[in-house]
This record gives sequence, C-alpha cells and structure tokens, in this order.
Amino acid sequence: GATIGILGGGQLGRMLSVAASRLGFKTHIFEPGANPPAGHVADRVTTAPYEDLNALRTFAASVDVVTYEFENVPTEALDAIEALRPIRPNRRALAISQDRILEKDFLNQIGLTTAPYAALTTAAELEAALLKVGHPSILKTTRLGYDGKGQARIMSLADAAPALASMNGAPSVLEGFIDFSHEVSVIAARGLDGSVACYDPGENVHKDGILATTTIPARLSPSQRTDAVLLAARILNALDYVGVMGVELFATPQGLIVNEIAPRVHNSGHWTQNGCAVDQFEQHIRAVAGWPLGDGSRFADVVMENLIGDDVLRVPAIAKERDAAIHLYGKAEVKPGRKMGHVNRVKRT
Ligand code: ATP
Ligand code: MG
Ligand code: MG
Repeated sequence: GATIGILGGGQLGRMLSVAASRLGFKTHIFEPGANPPAGHVADRVTTAPYEDLNALRTFAASVDVVTYEFENVPTEALDAIEALRPIRPNRRALAISQDRILEKDFLNQIGLTTAPYAALTTAAELEAALLKVGHPSILKTTRLGYDGKGQARIMSLADAAPALASMNGAPSVLEGFIDFSHEVSVIAARGLDGSVACYDPGENVHKDGILATTTIPARLSPSQRTDAVLLAARILNALDYVGVMGVELFATPQGLIVNEIAPRVHNSGHWTQNGCAVDQFEQHIRAVAGWPLGDGSRFADVVMENLIGDDVLRVPAIAKERDAAIHLYGKAEVKPGRKMGHVNRVKRT
C-alpha cells in the first residue's frame, strides 16, 4: 500500500495518521521534537531537525506523497523533499500562509476583503503605517505567529512604541482593528481533480488568543453562508490547492472579511469528526492521495470545546456527559496554553 509522509507530529499529524490508517495507508511522520503525539499512532517516525536534509531525503524517499500539519517548514527542507516527492498542498499555498503580507496581498488580488494593512519594520515605517491604517489596530509579526503570539494591540498612539518594541525588530504588519460581530471559519477541501467541497461554517470563540470553542451552525444569514463558501472556493481554486484549508473570517455588518488562511486541517474543523460522515482529516488524506472527496455534509449540531492546559483534568466529568465525544492527544505533560484534547458535544439534527 501507499505511504503518506506527514511533516509535523502534533495532534493534527496524529489525527491525520489515524484517518490515513483507516483508509489503508501507512504513515511516516517527520518531527524534530521528541515523543510527538502522532508517534503513538503512526507506522514510522523520523526524529530530526528540518536542517537535516539527508534525513529529509530518506524520509521523502520512503513515502509516496508528503503533506504537513505545520506551516513553518524551511524552504531548503521543502526543496529537498520536492526534488523527490510531490508536496500537497503545494508550495505556493505554504509560502503565502507563512507570510501575512504575501497572504493579504494574495487575498486582495483575488478580490477578497481583508483588514487594511501596511508592512513595517522601523519606527518611521510604523508612523507611516499608522497614518494609512489608523487605530485601533493590531501589530503582528509577519511570520511565525500562532495562537495570538507575536501580536500587540495599538488602542491609542501611546501604545505604538511598546508595540513595536515587542516585535524585537522582526518585520511586522499593522492591521486595522476589525469591529466584528463574531468570528467564523470555513473548512474547505479541494481534490486533485479540482472539485471543491466545503464544510458548514463554524463560529469561533477565542480566549487569550487561543481557539476555545467552535459552534456549528454559525450565526450567519443564508447569503453570508453562501458568501463564506464561495470565497473559500475562490481561494482554493486560485492556488490550485489540493487538500483541506482553514479560512478564518470576521463577520461584520458590511460582509465577511478574511483574517487568515491555514493550508492544513484546522482546529476549528475538529467538529467534523462527530458531525459528518467524512471528517476533515479523512478529507485531507483523500485529497492528497488523489482520491475523490468524501461527503462532508453535516448531520448534527456540534459544539467543539478545546481542552487547554488544566481543562484536561475535567475529562472524568466530561466522560459522564452522554453527548460528549472526547478526543485526547496523548501529551504526557500538562502546560498552561497547551492543547491537550477537545470535546465534541453533539446534538443530532
Ligand atoms: P492562529 O492560532 O489562528 O493561527 P494567529 O496567531 O495567527 O492565530 P490571528 O488569527 O491573526 O492570530 O489573530 C488571533 C485573533 O486575534 C483572531 O482570531 C481575532 O480574534 C483577533 N484579531 C486578529 N486580527 C484582528 C483584526 N485585524 N481585527 C480584530 N481582531 C483581530
Ligand atoms: Mg495564524
Ligand atoms: Mg488565526
């Protein structure tokens, strides 16, 4: 049988491995860190840094296709892999989502709306950016931010200097603050044959910059729901994308604004495990393996709750709830802010 290579051995890699194995594939994980959550379920794990190009070549040669759960794979590593095996989703999708400026440029080029933004590194550039974008606004590092890390809010001009200092000289983007009513995301998939399927949009609540809950269905009008799905399809088609993508949106009275895209399975898509026949993980494996996409239509209302840090201590109590499907990641050590698992509370419709 074929083997799927996965860059990154976190919980997403773990759940991708389970889905792949259910479809009869073997999986080989490449992960720099020791004892990764995916290591317990994958057929094979290579533990090496992304700088170890020989290890990467051996990994690539052992698999049929390479996908990833982690966006920040260095370019040289991707070059080494791509010389041997296809990478799905493709390099362009990865490059765009690694860089908030490229991402926003791309989204605007294809006619979608983002927050107003300006790139900057220096204090003089920040001053110019503030004239263009105004405030309140948010300063974000251009690269490597996640879970709200590498961000600083500029509510008044007094916040500008400390915000810039917190970037430690890294290239940054100033984004106008969007006064959204709520946040939603679309989990979309595109197959090798170009067919597109979107899951029903979910409504996301963040706590301390980390996703706390996703509720399905989201509060959206029928036309907003159509807009959300169409804009996601436009993104995937423009990138000739293969795989699952998470598209984060702000809902405003003026319409949907794209916050960011993630070229992978997405935390806000975990509800699909208990709300759809074919969940986002299977859908992603199907796409990257060149299979037809499966049926992602929703048969239940779901509330997905992330178990972060000490939340995982509530599992014995949650296990007594009749409608709670529990997914744990097998992480030995509990740390504040660490995603330990999630619960899908399911109400059949
Ligand atoms: P993720 O873990 O989703 O990759 P991230 O670190 O890349 O997160 P963003 O998604 O850009 O960060 O921002 C985190 C959260 O901060 C958003 O979900 C939203 O709640 C808020 N936020 C970000 N940008 C804006 C904005 N321009 N206007 C208003 N709120 C924003
Ligand atoms: Mg992000
Ligand atoms: Mg985000």
